[in-house]
Amino acid sequence: MMERFTKPFTQQEPIPEEGIAAALEVLRHGRLHRYNTLGDEVAETALLEEEFAAFTGARYCLAVASGGYALGCALRAAGVGPGDRVLTNGFTLAPVPGAIAAIGAEPGFVEVTDNLTVDLDDLARKVGQGAKALLLSHMRGHICDMDRLMAICDAAGIPVIEDCAHTMGGAWRGVPSGRHGLVGCYSTQTYKHMNSGEGGLLVSDDPQVMARAILLSGSYMLYARHRAAPPPEAFERVRYETPNVSGRMDNLRAAILRPQLAALPRQIERWNALYRTMEAGLQDTPGLQLTVRPAAEAIVGSSFQFLLPDWQACAVETFLARAAARGVELKWFGAAEPQGFTSRHDSWRYAPAQSLPQTDRILAGLIDMRLPLTFTPEDVALIARILRAEVLTVAQSGAEAPVITRSAD
Ligand SMILES: *Cc1c(COP(=O)(O)O)cnc(C)c1O
Repeated sequence: MMERFTKPFTQQEPIPEEGIAAALEVLRHGRLHRYNTLGDEVAETALLEEEFAAFTGARYCLAVASGGYALGCALRAAGVGPGDRVLTNGFTLAPVPGAIAAIGAEPGFVEVTDNLTVDLDDLARKVGQGAKALLLSHMRGHICDMDRLMAICDAAGIPVIEDCAHTMGGAWRGVPSGRHGLVGCYSTQTYKHMNSGEGGLLVSDDPQVMARAILLSGSYMLYARHRAAPPPEAFERVRYETPNVSGRMDNLRAAILRPQLAALPRQIERWNALYRTMEAGLQDTPGLQLTVRPAAEAIVGSSFQFLLPDWQACAVETFLARAAARGVELKWFGAAEPQGFTSRHDSWRYAPAQSLPQTDRILAGLIDMRLPLTFTPEDVALIARILRAEVLTVAQSGAEAPVITRSAD
């Protein structure tokens, strides 16, 4: 009998009971706004910031309304403004170029490699062409050689803002993701590593940058109520110069997140068990290429990607349809039109059109799937068997859906 998978790919785990209890307490006292505190009460949001700073080893942390807000706020706090060119990965998700566009800056795309990380040779070329900053996306959790990346950007004198929406809890050579550049940005939106529906976090060691970020987020002159903020002196000058662009986190979300942060190391182990099960199940499948995860990279395997290198579009479509018929929901970054979350650099037409032949070739065969913690390792092993079987079927079926190496056009 043909095996089928029946669970949804978009179902997260419930909020832990401890988070539900903490949320109810906030609802009962009604002080949801982070600066609505009584006496010497410390707001849930301030406590979350303190705990997340400790988790990442950063001096300062700020909680905000979304991951996208965190990116825009970080760029602005780093001094990026209208008309500036900000480099970012040619393969990422829409909120990344969107955050650049939101402050009136212009995205400049850098090629990616077939390990889905930014191409450091292309980056080295492009940093010298008038870039004001790099907004580095650790897209789908793939971390590039951060030592080399920082050497390139430091030599060019441009700040690095890290988008860690997919690497919260990950690390490169023992340094937590988000701690190499000037600012690390995280999302706590439902599909990320902690779930408050919407939400974001920024970390930095730079007192001026963080003071600006806090003022931007809408602190009024209440920044002394933060626990992971720079000292009052850091605000002295910038408080007159920094506009309020409200994007605060509230105490309800923070209350939900604090127990999830405490549980994150255990969740990461569970994600990685799923990831390694999928990797083992797809190993040595002819026609399918796995990404290489370097030993220096501590991963959080909350999603899985593989390549069908040089497959024709019609063969990929056949494969996707056959997997879907067996209950396996895959995303393809090579479709002609953007669907769901899978838009591409050529869909972001507010940015100047750019030539990225290497990235285009990779995206044409790039398959992506979520690994939610509602899956068990047995579930993932079943998905891998289905994918392996369907790759082999499509790759071997001659006439209907041939796999033909693209010509060099
Ligand atoms: C989700 C996501 C963001 C933004 O997060 P939101 O909280 O949804 O605004 C940024 N970058 C990437 C790569 C993401 O996947």
